[in-house]
Amino acid sequence: MYAVRTIRLCTKDCLCLYVCPTGATDTENSVIDRIRCTGCGLCAKSCPSGAISMVPDVMPPQQPKVAPVVAAMRSLARSKSEQETAAAALPGVLAAALARSNRVMAEDLLREAGFMLPQSGNVRAELTAMLAQPHSEGFPREAAQKLLDTLPFNE
Ligand code: SF4
Ligand code: SF4
Repeated sequence: MYAVRTIRLCTKDCLCLYVCPTGATDTENSVIDRIRCTGCGLCAKSCPSGAISMVPDVMPPQQPKVAPVVAAMRSLARSKSEQETAAAALPGVLAAALARSNRVMAEDLLREAGFMLPQSGNVRAELTAMLAQPHSEGFPREAAQKLLDTLPFNE
C-alpha cells in the first residue's frame, strides 16, 4: 500500500505532515513521495479532510462481467439516463445541473465497467500520433486504426 493525496481536498499544513514517520507527505508539489512512503496509513487516519487514500501496490484484476452484474449495470445506467431526460425537460439551472450529473454518472458506470472508451479530442490526437510512429512487432496497428475510424469522438 502507499498513500495518495487528493490535492483538491487538501487544506495544507496540517496533521499528515506531523504524523508521517518518513516525511513522505511533506513535499514541494504536495504529491506524497511514493519512494519514501512505507504504507503505514497514519497520514490517511489523521487527515481531517479525507484527502489521503491508501492505494494497493498491485490493483486486483478486473472482475469478470457475469450476466447478473452486466444486467444490474445496464439497469442503473438506463435509470440515470431516464433521470437525465426528465431533468432536461425542466426549466432552470438546477435541473440542468441535475441532468448533467445524471449523464456523468451513467457514463462513469459504463466507463468503469469497461464498456466505454474515452472519446475526447485528446484520444484522437493520441491515436493519430501512435499510428504515425514506427512500432515494434506486436503493436496492434489495425486495432488503433479501427478505433480512430469508428469511435464517435465528442468533447
Ligand atoms: S502512509 Fe505512512 S509513510 Fe506513507 S505518507 Fe502516510 S504516514 Fe507517511
Ligand atoms: S492532513 Fe489532509 S488536509 Fe491536512 S495537509 Fe495532510 S492531506 Fe492535506
